Amino acid sequence: MADTIFGKIIAGEIPCHRVFENEHVLAFLDVNPLAEGHTLVVPKKPYDRLEKIPANEAADMFRCLGAIAKRVLTVTGAHGYNILQNNGRVAGQEVNHVHFHIIPRHAGDGLGYRWKPQPGDAAALAALAKRLRDA
Ligand code: AMP
Repeated sequence: MADTIFGKIIAGEIPCHRVFENEHVLAFLDVNPLAEGHTLVVPKKPYDRLEKIPANEAADMFRCLGAIAKRVLTVTGAHGYNILQNNGRVAGQEVNHVHFHIIPRHAGDGLGYRWKPQPGDAAALAALAKRLRDA
C-alpha cells in the first residue's frame, strides 16, 4: 500500500490536509496548489492508472468528485474548475497512484494549458473510431 507518497498518506504514515474520506476515496489539499482549494481525490487502493480501478470503486470516485468539487466551489468562491487526471509519465503523472486534481478557476487567473488542435481528416477519424469500437 505505502509504495508511493499517496500510499503513505492513506496509511497515515505522513500527514495531509484531509478534505473528505469514505470507504474507497480520500481527498486532501495539494501541497503545491495551482489555486486556493486545489484538491487531490484518490482511491484508497494503490491503483497506478485509471483503467485499473474496478467499476464499483470508479463509480464511487465519480460521485465523490462532483460532491467535493461543489464544496471547493462553495468554500473558495471559484466559478469553475478543471478536473485533471494524468496517466503515465508521458502524460505528466508524477505520483504512481491514481489521483484527480480539482483545480478551482477564476476569471483572468492566467491558468491554462497548451492545446494544439488540428482539423482531423474525416476518413481517418471514421477508420480510427471503427478500430476503437472493434477493439
Ligand atoms: P501529477 O503530476 O498529476 O502526478 O500530480 C502530483 C501532485 O501531487 C502534484 O500536484 C503535487 O503537488 C502533489 N503532491 C505531491 N506530494 C504531495 C503531498 N505529500 N501532499 C499533497 N500533495 C502532494
